[in-house]
Amino acid sequence: MTANASTPRVALVTGTSSGIGEAVVRHFCEQGHQVLAVDFNPAGKEVAERAGAAFFQADLTDGEACKAAVADAVKRFGRVDILVNNAGVQHVSPIEEFPETKWRQIIDLMLTAPFLLTQAAWPSMRENGWGRIVNIASVHAQVASPGKSAYISAKHGMIGLTKTAALEGGSQGITANAICPAYVKTPLVDNQIADQAKMHGMQEQEVIEQIMLKNAAVKRLIEPAEVAELVGYLASDLAGAVTGASWNIDLGWTAQ
Ligand code: NAD
Repeated sequence: MTANASTPRVALVTGTSSGIGEAVVRHFCEQGHQVLAVDFNPAGKEVAERAGAAFFQADLTDGEACKAAVADAVKRFGRVDILVNNAGVQHVSPIEEFPETKWRQIIDLMLTAPFLLTQAAWPSMRENGWGRIVNIASVHAQVASPGKSAYISAKHGMIGLTKTAALEGGSQGITANAICPAYVKTPLVDNQIADQAKMHGMQEQEVIEQIMLKNAAVKRLIEPAEVAELVGYLASDLAGAVTGASWNIDLGWTAQ
């Protein structure tokens, strides 16, 4: 092995104005990587700059914006070594009532954008003989729950994309892995707690304990920094033999 775990790299991370993406940007900056944080929320600029990252504003449901984000990273830093596909949203309603526009938005953002970003970053990784793709999937890439058809379909698809990228990248120094967290303490989950409390006429703490942690062996929510730590490992030189895998941080949810 010629490099250690903290060789400085160029990383592009999506969905960085809060939650897991913000924690990943902070973690990478602390490791000395050059980071381009990509988000459609302009508030992400301040979040990125506070961590020491550059910011590119893009609505990743737009394919051209995905390509522009990678082009911006290459223009600023000369290459892309690490791609973390993290941006995501949730919409909960039964299949019968699920709005087509929401379905398309979720598939565009959480399956098509990771594909287009991977495709756009690939030449740079191939030319350098080194690349790391880390896809933030979900425990819902492995099991389903009612009301989340688009999210669950996108996340299951993301595992297929991860495995294919791993097979194609193996001979080129490019690895691809997915991380599958259960509920992480982020705005995405805060909104769900509030919605479900309203829907079920429950207190928010009851939603956490009786719904979100129902299948969990470890009865607590996950911290974004715990996910960022695993992203850091999978993006490191040390993880060169690790590819095509799904990494659960799921409080034991899928152990049963
Ligand atoms: P979050 O809401 O804190 O972060 C999502 C980010 O994506 C935000 O910065 C948001 O601005 C950005 N985003 C949304 N739509 C976008 C668009 N069209 N273009 C560009 N950026 C956009 O949520 P989070 O919980 O940190 O989620 C991050 C990822 O982790 C998501 O893919 C989510 O599915 C996944 N995940 C979260 C949990 C959890 O419990 N929080 C569990 C499993 C998987």
